[in-house]
Amino acid sequence: MEDVKIWEEVLKEAKKHCSDDVVSTWIKPLQMVEVRGDLITLQAPNKFYKNWVEEKYLDTLKKIFNEGLSIDADVLIITGDAPKAQAVSQIASPSAAVADYKIPASSNLNRDYIFENFVVGSSNQFSHAACLAVSEGHFQKYNPLFIYGGVGLGKTHLMQAAGNRIMERFPKLKVLYITSETFTNEMIQSLKTKKMDEFRSKYRNIDMLLFDDVQFLAGKQRSTEEFFYTFNTLYESQKQIILTSDKTPSEIPELEERMRSRFAWGLIADIQAPSTEEKAAIIMKRADIMNLKLSDELGIFLAENIKTENIRELIGALVRLSAYASFHNEPLSIALARKSLDKFLVRKDKMVTEENIIDAVTGYFNVKMSDLKSKKRTKSISLPRQVAMYILRSKLNISLQEVGELFGGRDHSTVLHSVQSIEKKCRDDKEIQEIIATLEKSLYS
Ligand code: ADP
Ligand code: MG
Repeated sequence: MEDVKIWEEVLKEAKKHCSDDVVSTWIKPLQMVEVRGDLITLQAPNKFYKNWVEEKYLDTLKKIFNEGLSIDADVLIITGDAPKAQAVSQIASPSAAVADYKIPASSNLNRDYIFENFVVGSSNQFSHAACLAVSEGHFQKYNPLFIYGGVGLGKTHLMQAAGNRIMERFPKLKVLYITSETFTNEMIQSLKTKKMDEFRSKYRNIDMLLFDDVQFLAGKQRSTEEFFYTFNTLYESQKQIILTSDKTPSEIPELEERMRSRFAWGLIADIQAPSTEEKAAIIMKRADIMNLKLSDELGIFLAENIKTENIRELIGALVRLSAYASFHNEPLSIALARKSLDKFLVRKDKMVTEENIIDAVTGYFNVKMSDLKSKKRTKSISLPRQVAMYILRSKLNISLQEVGELFGGRDHSTVLHSVQSIEKKCRDDKEIQEIIATLEKSLYS
């Protein structure tokens, strides 16, 4: 069979194993460069691509050749040298900027998570500074260091950057990164196999413990207990502890008080959602690491239009865009971004209706419209009512009176009072600001 024919067969077979999307995105762009003896060589457009296919689809490809086509051969994926004049820059592996010192695998550290790859802005300045300070090696100063912030805002990256820096500067120290979930699972396993002594000594004979997502300990009594003793042992022997969480200690009431109060002994630092400028800087930095040529204009466009504050998702969108450009052999541009990221972009021109707003507000607060129309004045009802009135007024061209009618015939001065009260709160009440921002975002997504 000719190579071209073989490849056609492969694609046909592939559809039996993978979705059309996967076939067209990952399998089709491969080129069969050689079938020789017991080795089939496939060429991927670039390294990022090669890694992905190797990790996810190599076994399937082997199966297709061996079983589907009865070609008893091994499969090798290589990358081609990109022609110099190619419009699209190569996508390098995101791990291009890695540290060059040795870290023992037992530390569980990821070498990509280093300070050099981290963009500092006002949203994360404080936590960044705290992690830097800790990685100077003055362990007593900020101990424990407790970092809190929303999902995908860089907590894990920062805490590991501190660990990596310590490994770089003090290779003899023992650093251990662990998520609270893994800690719990290991503990359960050790209990079952009666190896608690081993478990304990693993966690108590280290110099720096990076304990990620501590909020998952909440409600897990046995793990909390075990962690409590680990914490105390390390703390008393002046070992550094860094914790992360998506909430502050006081916002995790299910966690024992003695644990929460200990978390507050050292320094509590927060990470906020990135501003548009910070998002742009992160995108540009990541593009740099990926060896992508991204114009400032496109960087800013992405920062302004990708509707997420989660940096993981932001980077995901960039990877998607570059993959798309690469497959279609087109240069990166705003037009291409619009095409390939359609679903991820904020749509500013979307029409919002009264119904959308009411649905969003009642859904968010989990209240019924009939309650909002009623005379009830408890906070759980009046706050959503006021918020709904405020958003209706600010997003739609609708009179105070009309708003009043929507809410069981309230008169316009009541509506005005509600709207003004939210306006005022928007200026200095963080919680309200967040509620409004979340609701507005949901309206335009
Ligand atoms: P969290 O632990 O808060 O959920 P992560 O630390 O896992 O978030 O970060 C999510 C992704 O975003 C990671 O790939 C991380 O490298 C990246 N990231 C987060 N913050 C920054 C930043 N300030 N600069 C560069 N990359 C960042
Ligand atoms: Mg994390």
